[in-house]
Amino acid sequence: MGETMTKELVVVGGGVAGCTAAMYAKRYNMDLILLEKAAPGGQTATASEIENYPGFPDGISGFELAERVHQQAANVGVDFVAGTAESVVRDGDDWLLKTSGGEIRTKALIVAAGASPRRLEVPGERDLYGKGVSYCATCDGMFYRARTVAVAGGGNTAVDEAIYLSQICEKVYLVHRRDELRAEAHLQTRAFQQESIEFVWDSVITEIIGSDEVTAIKVHNKKTEADSEMPVDGVFVAIGHEPATEWVADVVELKDSFIETNQEMESSAPGIFAAGDIRDTPLRQITTAVGDASIAAHSAWQYLQRIAVG
Ligand code: NAP
Repeated sequence: MGETMTKELVVVGGGVAGCTAAMYAKRYNMDLILLEKAAPGGQTATASEIENYPGFPDGISGFELAERVHQQAANVGVDFVAGTAESVVRDGDDWLLKTSGGEIRTKALIVAAGASPRRLEVPGERDLYGKGVSYCATCDGMFYRARTVAVAGGGNTAVDEAIYLSQICEKVYLVHRRDELRAEAHLQTRAFQQESIEFVWDSVITEIIGSDEVTAIKVHNKKTEADSEMPVDGVFVAIGHEPATEWVADVVELKDSFIETNQEMESSAPGIFAAGDIRDTPLRQITTAVGDASIAAHSAWQYLQRIAVG
């Protein structure tokens, strides 16, 4: 990027929320760039099958939906810049955004940087990442054809991944810390119908074992206090997500690390808006991310009008 770039708006994040916000902002004729990390598409790109996004009655793969949204933003002329947001500070009426590729001076920001997978934080997890430990079944599931894997978690992601893996693997253990799933009813019904999924209730993974590759997990049953070792070839961790808010935490109000906004998607800082999974919201879905993003772009446009007249 070299010397400081100047823009009216920077959208941070190339997932569905970021692309939608940029697309709308382009329609309001704003001078903007979209800053995105190396792998665009956000979490949507890692979902195996999206069945609840309107307009796709037969479902659509997350990867394809993310690609289509990205393409749609590119078609309206959104300028994509590769890089990661590192910090942001106020400078007069502007924001100075430091990125891995250089500095950007901007009037407004839409933060749609999403969230990244939460880690189990158990021995073996980091060392065996990429050697049997994965955070994305859609990306890595195929490596486990006819093998045995464990999925940690009980939410939509874990259950969705377990169903997907059950079609590839010989055996899938779903290890959940309680005795009922958090996932939506229709996903639960489908998971219970899969013979190759075995539910390991009231249990947590306490260690992932292996030297060059995963060979087993240690599991602790919280009710019986029993510890056991289960041979597996892979572990898919799906226990929720942490928002990517560290770089912006000094300037906006957060709630449990997520950005607090009003219904206009305004954060507590003037000119900074948030959309999608990074926002404090009761529902994190593609549908809600798209709604957030459209409102955020509209609010950013109104903000620019206001500051232009002083
Ligand atoms: P989530 O809904 O927050 O579920 C996280 C799961 O992991 C919960 O079951 C939780 O257990 C468990 N967990 C959390 N921390 C843990 C720990 N340290 N050790 C063991 N287990 C732990 O996260 P998600 O499933 O990733 O879903 C995130 C959002 O994306 C949700 O809003 C979801 O609806 C959405 N999503 C939707 C779809 C779809 O519609 N097809 C697919 C994927 C995701 P407890 O239940 O005991 O809290």
